Amino acid sequence: MGHSGIGEARAFAVPMRTRFRGQTVREGLLVRGPAGWGEFSPFPEYAPRECARWWSACREAAAEGWPAPVRDSVPVNVTVPAVGPDQAARIVAGGGCATAKVKVAETGQSPADDLARVEAVRDAIGPRGRVRIDANGAWDPDTAVRMLAALSRFDLEYAEQPCATLEELAQVRRRCGVPVAADESIRRAEDPLRVRAAGAADIVVLKVQPLGGVRAALRVAEACGLPVVVSSAVETSVGLAAGVALAAALPELPYACGLATMHLLETDVTADPLLPHQGRVPVRRPEVDERRLAAVETDAAPWLRRAEAARRARGPAEDDGGAAPRASGD
Ligand SMILES: [Mg+2]
Repeated sequence: MGHSGIGEARAFAVPMRTRFRGQTVREGLLVRGPAGWGEFSPFPEYAPRECARWWSACREAAAEGWPAPVRDSVPVNVTVPAVGPDQAARIVAGGGCATAKVKVAETGQSPADDLARVEAVRDAIGPRGRVRIDANGAWDPDTAVRMLAALSRFDLEYAEQPCATLEELAQVRRRCGVPVAADESIRRAEDPLRVRAAGAADIVVLKVQPLGGVRAALRVAEACGLPVVVSSAVETSVGLAAGVALAAALPELPYACGLATMHLLETDVTADPLLPHQGRVPVRRPEVDERRLAAVETDAAPWLRRAEAARRARGPAEDDGGAAPRASGD
């Protein structure tokens, strides 16, 4: 083990049940340190400078662990993709969650498709359930205002990233009464402050790896001052546990989180995946299972190079002076 407190490192490639960011496999590196396993899984196109924060999050998990939780489970939402209304209703009924996030504004679909899907979800979840929509930045402001007006009869909790830019989000917020959440607008630690300064959102969606760890995300949340929804980057249960730790440590957690994502992966690296039960994910760190990890293991060499490049790309403030991980067996 190096003086950074980080030792064994194992690469994985887990097939996904559905395409995500154009990918069908989720890949990354698992690193073991004195505090447990950490996950380093930046997306393939990310350059070292961007990967640096993802590496910091992994290093924190392995070397330090996370701040103490203030709750022992985290409410999560079921996500309804851009499917037909019958299938949407089945997904909600089978999800066991009191909050549903409905994907809208899918390419090739009409406003009527979105309205029918959201209506089916509202019917399935009942009047006491919460329904939010996610447009992934696809609407222009006029379309967003028109669609949110039409969808408001289904009593929306909020609209996630209805438009792409901060200026557009601010305009939508001014023109309609549905709260706005910023997701894609937040990729770096300084972004939530920009979102707030621009009046672009009522809620911020935060992910642990892009922000550089649980502590970094907690600092961002505190500085930003807006309510936080914690979301995953579609990680294995090792990476997901960091998101759960963030949600568990936030002083206030008024909204269900986007941490019910394990089912998007075909397999996991633990025998006891972080899956929701009755709409909540328990706050815990699953143990890596050697047999399951071996079944999805790939060559660690490219990932070790990526981790080393990420470590070198970190700024002085982020530098812990630690060494890069080494391959397993040493
Ligand atoms: Mg989103």
